[in-house]
Amino acid sequence: MRIGRAIGVTDTGRRRLRNEDALVCAPPLFAVADGMGGAQAGELASGVAAAALEELGSETHGERAVAELIQEANLRVYRRAIEDPEAAGMGTTVTVALVDEQAETVAIGHVGDSRAYLIRDGELAQLTTDHSLVGELERSGRLTAEEARVHPQRSVITRALGTEEDVDVDTQLVEAEPGDVFLICSDGLPSMVRDEEIAELVEAADRDPERIARSLVEAANRAGGDDNVTVVVFELVEGHARGETLDPDEHTAENAPIPTPPAAPAAGDDVTRHGAGHGSRVLALAAILLALVATALVVWWGIAR
Ligand code: MG
Repeated sequence: MRIGRAIGVTDTGRRRLRNEDALVCAPPLFAVADGMGGAQAGELASGVAAAALEELGSETHGERAVAELIQEANLRVYRRAIEDPEAAGMGTTVTVALVDEQAETVAIGHVGDSRAYLIRDGELAQLTTDHSLVGELERSGRLTAEEARVHPQRSVITRALGTEEDVDVDTQLVEAEPGDVFLICSDGLPSMVRDEEIAELVEAADRDPERIARSLVEAANRAGGDDNVTVVVFELVEGHARGETLDPDEHTAENAPIPTPPAAPAAGDDVTRHGAGHGSRVLALAAILLALVATALVVWWGIAR
């Protein structure tokens, strides 16, 4: 199994002046961060967290690695918030997916209310639980999912990166399958678009990550675009993991890396593909043409006389 197409799209939305979301689309690591804080601190917090993840995440895998990555990102945001008076009190959510192609697993880690979803066999499953006020009220049965989705205090989160030196990270390991599509998003998507509609849009986009991402961002804006909206979408496909050593007998067409497609052959090209090059072909054609013209001339000469 390997990572197929992947894309990240972020949009300010229709009501906010700034985009405080940040994303990482750096296979095998994917992440979304949604910052908060006064002035430009929200942007700074999500940006610092995303940069830390991108810098540290490429060579690691597994649940523990994800937790450690998020801890390190937390520390960087926290230190920055202490050092920089303008950044005091800033924080950010973060949701990370770290793919291990060889083990065929995806480690998910998160803090806050940015979500990870898995689309498998046309079914949309939310993998993360929101660390938010309404999320907790919903889990305790005091709010329905729909009440939580439109609640005025839906953006109040109960856990964030950067507010303390240590952070409690939720992690899980997903046994992946070829054909899986993963979606990571900031709350600007689910607060505007219901899960059922997300599932429909994913289906309508034919599992193409780019089409999925663009149609989800469009849907959030169509519904009002109250918040910044960010989506990262990637698919897992059949094939060998990057860097995996192949058994020499295993170089079948199916397993071989996808070759660069040859240029479209010209008509009749198959005859000459293994023989003469283009130049020789032109010469041969010219010779045939010359012979034909000469024959015609001889015949005409014969008739004319
Ligand atoms: Mg948000």
